[in-house]
Amino acid sequence: MTVIYLDHNATTPVLPEVVEAMLPYLREEWGNPSSTYRFGAKLKKTLEIARDQVADLIGAHPMNVVFTSGGTESDNAALHAIAHADPNKRHLITSNVEHSAVLSYCRYLEGMGWRVTYLAVDREGLLSMTDLENAITPETAGVSLMWANNETGVLFPVEEIAAICQGRGVLFHCDAVQAVGKILVNFSEIRASFLSLSGHKFGAPKGIGALVVADPDSFVPMVVGGKQENGHRGGTENVPSIVALGTAAEIATVRNTTSWSRVAKLRDSWETKVQECFPGAEVNGAGRERLPNTSNIYLPGIDADALVTFLDQKAICVSSGSACLESAITPSHVILGMSGSHERASESIRISLGRDTRADEVDHLLLAFEAFREVSG
Ligand code: PLP
Repeated sequence: MTVIYLDHNATTPVLPEVVEAMLPYLREEWGNPSSTYRFGAKLKKTLEIARDQVADLIGAHPMNVVFTSGGTESDNAALHAIAHADPNKRHLITSNVEHSAVLSYCRYLEGMGWRVTYLAVDREGLLSMTDLENAITPETAGVSLMWANNETGVLFPVEEIAAICQGRGVLFHCDAVQAVGKILVNFSEIRASFLSLSGHKFGAPKGIGALVVADPDSFVPMVVGGKQENGHRGGTENVPSIVALGTAAEIATVRNTTSWSRVAKLRDSWETKVQECFPGAEVNGAGRERLPNTSNIYLPGIDADALVTFLDQKAICVSSGSACLESAITPSHVILGMSGSHERASESIRISLGRDTRADEVDHLLLAFEAFREVSG
């Protein structure tokens, strides 16, 4: 059975060019870049090429790019660095719709005696800049807010957030895991202190990512060991995956906006059709600027988890938005945060298209929605 994959915010297929680029580093060039002999040491150059490619994609200087094991580590490492920046500051600000990679670290900090402010979002998923301003106190070490929400695609105004943080002298970490590769991201322009990205969200394999650090000299690393990554992240470098990340970044730089406008049109027309077929259906975050590929739809009276299971039997992959949290049956904390309604949170479903998603695939999904409504009465 051919799979219809409409869950690209969860992960993306590894691009064929990326697999090709990795293979020599699995088969022949398996040395250790830290070795003194040439068989290993020549791979240092390979790492620097990949660093340049990643830096190009996000408008950063290569020296600001630290390779990590993915988005979760990047988020944790940024928050760790914020937590160790000034011993007199033990207050952090985030939002209640962040990814669990950020929220879990915040809970850890609370366990260590920190105060964490979880900013609320409105019904459309947006933050109030006044709330952010008001939450900052002289004890605030930093702010961690995402660029694009993984469940709704809603974009936060990161430039404005960065400007507020700079003005008030607090560090700003931006979780850009869902933004990189889908919209233009320019690190130098937004002027965040830290930015997280993850390779498997844009065509590289799982388990590789980067943390972009504005001021590497004052960075306190979380993973300590050897002096790899200029002393910013210990551990023998994952050369094949770093090559993969660089290659995927280069491809994303070239293709950046072109194919996404087609995807946005496809997503928009699909949303219109769903709303015609399902009276009362609403797009969560519809009124806001969103990622081009993400659609989060509230289908009143339809149990999202049951629908996801039904679609799975038809080899259609979508998500009810709960998979990343502790329990698969927890209704989405994002939709709960936006609406305050458990019912809406458990009756909302996320689809996330890829660059190559076709119209017949999303049409098929709509037919499957209708089939589910028939069988579930
Ligand atoms: N942050 C966001 C917004 C995400 O969507 C994800 C993954 O879904 C992560 C962080 C974690 O990234 P990774 O899967 O690379 O650990």
